[in-house]
Amino acid sequence: MRRILLLCICMIMITVYLPTLSHAEESQPKKKPIKKEVSGKKKKKAGSVKGKGTVKVKRKKAAAAVKSKAAPPAAEPAGTASTLPAVVTEMRHWSNPDYTRIAVNLDREVKFESHQLPENRETGAPPRLYIDIGDARIAQGVKDIPIGDGLLKTARIGQYRPDTVRVVLDMGSIRDYKIFTFSDPFRIIIDVRGERREEFSRPKENILAPLPVVPAAKVEPLDEKTKGIQKTAIGKIRRIVVDPGHGGHDPGAVGGGGAREKDVVLQIGLKLAKKLREGLGLDVVMTRSTDVFLELQERTAIANQVGADLFVSIHANAALSRTISGIETYYLNLAKTEKAAQLAAKENGTSLEKVSLLQAVLFDLMANYKINDSAHLAEEVQKALYRKAGGQYSGVKNLGVKQGPFYVLVGATMPSILVETAFLSNEREEERLKDAQYQETTADGILEGIKGYIASLK
Ligand SMILES: [Zn+2]
Repeated sequence: MRRILLLCICMIMITVYLPTLSHAEESQPKKKPIKKEVSGKKKKKAGSVKGKGTVKVKRKKAAAAVKSKAAPPAAEPAGTASTLPAVVTEMRHWSNPDYTRIAVNLDREVKFESHQLPENRETGAPPRLYIDIGDARIAQGVKDIPIGDGLLKTARIGQYRPDTVRVVLDMGSIRDYKIFTFSDPFRIIIDVRGERREEFSRPKENILAPLPVVPAAKVEPLDEKTKGIQKTAIGKIRRIVVDPGHGGHDPGAVGGGGAREKDVVLQIGLKLAKKLREGLGLDVVMTRSTDVFLELQERTAIANQVGADLFVSIHANAALSRTISGIETYYLNLAKTEKAAQLAAKENGTSLEKVSLLQAVLFDLMANYKINDSAHLAEEVQKALYRKAGGQYSGVKNLGVKQGPFYVLVGATMPSILVETAFLSNEREEERLKDAQYQETTADGILEGIKGYIASLK
């Protein structure tokens, strides 16, 4: 069972167990030190990014450090060389209010290079960004995508050479872009940002379409306290995205008794959504309300697309030791030291180089991430959830607020947290997680935390 548990530990994230900062430190504005570290890291890490694709950032001097775009392919590690080319299985796009994302899915990890071409006035060709993917071919049915959202005109894909696939983005008005990768399945992600010339309109591929419509909430009379909060909420917090982790072919953690994370967190999420609607009169969007698989970037893309004010991802924990139990809440932050990065690499069985690349991307994304608000939301939810669950059940442990580079929170532009409700690897907590009453209590706790956060906004 232990082996199974090990495999199931929230596969959605790179978890770095950083020493949790004291509350006082967390609530200090940390903008400046972070920015400093951003450019420092980028410069320092630019070399190691080579060969793993390119991170390009047109901001400040950092750009100079990552200018070498045509990264020479690094040597294949022994034993992984394949004689068959990689296959591009899919290309998709998401238009968000302030950025557009292109995802190119492949059946395995590949090397790629990116290049930029200026506008050609003679031919009328717009400025272009292209990516050459080495040792790859295109699967049948993968086609060009007309976008026309103001940032990008089209995303084109073709077999440029027998062994090279080229993706060309015809750009509208973009200010900067980033290229990074996700694994399982391997995806090359291109995010472009800029000022839209045209009004943002619904993307052609509507990622919200599969979300089932939830029946209108019964309106119950509100008590005075809730009325007050609702008034505040109308100004500051109107829409919340509730994100039950995992789903579909990804079960998440699996307990010794067979309970699956994807099922218990969905139940908690559904209960929480109902309470947020009925209790606080908030608009709630669920990333999933059935047992379906969602890629990580789709989750925050949904939150960004619907203009959510808060993002709450719900998970159940697992540990190698069955005695470990408790509640913990995470928000996105970065490994600040080389040691923490090494630990992250080790924990994930990945290379330090990969962690560094992820960090370079994260440092940049964090410019838009509400770090102090997220820390505050995490504190409120952790406190209220522990109080609620601990008040009704015995032996509930408070593991506190933690931070780590979570893939699921990357790209969210609103305060975002990830709640690890309890441990499926612990027998007693697994029993509780399966129980509707405990799920109800957990949803109540998270609701109280959100209420506390909203009430503190002035
Ligand atoms: Zn999880």
